Amino acid sequence: MKYLLSIIALLLFATAPTVQAQDLVAIRAGAMLDVETGQVHRNVVLLIRNGRIEAVGANVAVPKGAEVIDLSDQFVLPGLMDAHTHLLIQPDYASNNPILNKSIPFRTAEGIAAAKATLLAGFTTIRDMDSEGADWADVAIRDAIDKGLVPGPHSQVATRALSITGGYMNQNGLAPQIDVPQFGFLADSDDAIVAEIRREYKYGTNWIKLYATGTTRHINLADMTPLPQFDRDQIALVIKEAARFRIPVAAHAYGGPGAYDAVDLGARSIEHGMLLDDKTLDLMVQKGTFWVPTISVYMTEGLPAEWSARTTAIVKAHKATFARAYKKGVRIAYGTDAGAIPHGENAIDFALMVDYGMSTIDAIRSATIVTADLMGLTEETGRLSPGMAADIIAVEGNPLDDITQLKHVSFVMKAGHVYKN
Ligand SMILES: [Zn+2]
Repeated sequence: MKYLLSIIALLLFATAPTVQAQDLVAIRAGAMLDVETGQVHRNVVLLIRNGRIEAVGANVAVPKGAEVIDLSDQFVLPGLMDAHTHLLIQPDYASNNPILNKSIPFRTAEGIAAAKATLLAGFTTIRDMDSEGADWADVAIRDAIDKGLVPGPHSQVATRALSITGGYMNQNGLAPQIDVPQFGFLADSDDAIVAEIRREYKYGTNWIKLYATGTTRHINLADMTPLPQFDRDQIALVIKEAARFRIPVAAHAYGGPGAYDAVDLGARSIEHGMLLDDKTLDLMVQKGTFWVPTISVYMTEGLPAEWSARTTAIVKAHKATFARAYKKGVRIAYGTDAGAIPHGENAIDFALMVDYGMSTIDAIRSATIVTADLMGLTEETGRLSPGMAADIIAVEGNPLDDITQLKHVSFVMKAGHVYKN
C-alpha cells in the first residue's frame, strides 16, 4: 500500500509540471505573417493558453513557467486549410476500386493515416467532401480526431454525396445483373432526396454534397457543356431540406445550368467549376458564393489516351476561368481533391494558383481566412490573433517570396498541441 502511494505521489509530482507547461506556451517567431494585412512582423512572441492564442506581438513578455518553443529562425503563419479533401480515397483508386477491393474498416484505417499525413503537412483544418462509398466512415474519423484518439485536422464532413443513376459516382463497367454499392447515393426522385438528407443529418454530416453536374466524361466536347444532373426544382429541394437542419450545400458543378442554378438557389460553394461562365461568376460575386477550384487534380497525368484531348481542353478552360473569377472578385477557397492526389501533398495547388495569376498573399488567404469563412470558422481559425485557436505552422523561408515553401512545413501546432517540430 505504502509502495503504491509513493508511486502515485511520484506520478503526480512527475506529471504536474508538464501539464502546467502545456497550459501556457510561448512561441518565439523570427517572422510572422499577418494574413489579413499581408504584413510580415519580425521577432514576435505568440502566447498560447489552453490551446488558444492569448497575445501576439513583439512586446509580449514570456511569463514565468511558460513552455518556450524557439522558432526564431522560422517563418510562422496560421495553420493551412483544405476545403476539398477525400480522406477515404487513395491515389490508387482508379486501378484498385476501393468499393470492390477494400473493406470499409480497412478504408477507415487508410483514412486515419491520411488525416495524420494531412496534419503533418501543415493543414490543421479540412472539409472532407464526401466519403466515396465508405458511408459514414468520415464521421467516425472526424469524431476520433476530436476525441484525441488519433491525430488529424479539425474536420467537417459530407458523408454520402447525392448523385443520379447514370451520372457521376456510379460504378461503371460492370454487367447490369451485378448489383454493388455505389460511390454516392443515387437519388432519382424527390422522396429519395429528402430521405437521404434526413439520414445524413441523423448520422452526423456537416455538409450536403450535391453532384449538380456530371463528371468529365459527361462533358460534350463540341460545345464544352457539362451534364446537369438535377433540375432547378430538385436543386431547390436539396437546399431547402438541408437548410431545415442548418446544413450548407456544396455543389460539385463544372458550369452550365447545373452550376448557375446551384448558385442562384443558394449553394454555399461551387466545387471545381472549370467551365463557369461570366453570368454565373457575376452571380457568385453578388451572392457571396465560394469557389473551390481544385486545380491540380485536373492535371493528373496517366489518363487513358482517348481522354487526352478532353483533359487538355478542360485544363485550358480552368486556367481562363480562374483568371476571370479572380479579376471579378469571386471568393476563391483553397481545395485540392486530396485522395486523387496523395494525402499530405495538399500544398501542391499554391504554385498553380500563383501560376494562374493569383498573388502569393491571396493564395495564402485562400487557404486561411477565405476557407475559414466558407466553413463558418471565421472566429475560430485562419488568423493568428487573440482568441483564435492556436493552429500554427512554420516554414524556413518567406512564402510571399516563394510559395513552394508551404510544401515543406517544419512545425505544426493544432489547438495548442505540437504535432511536428
Ligand atoms: Zn472531390
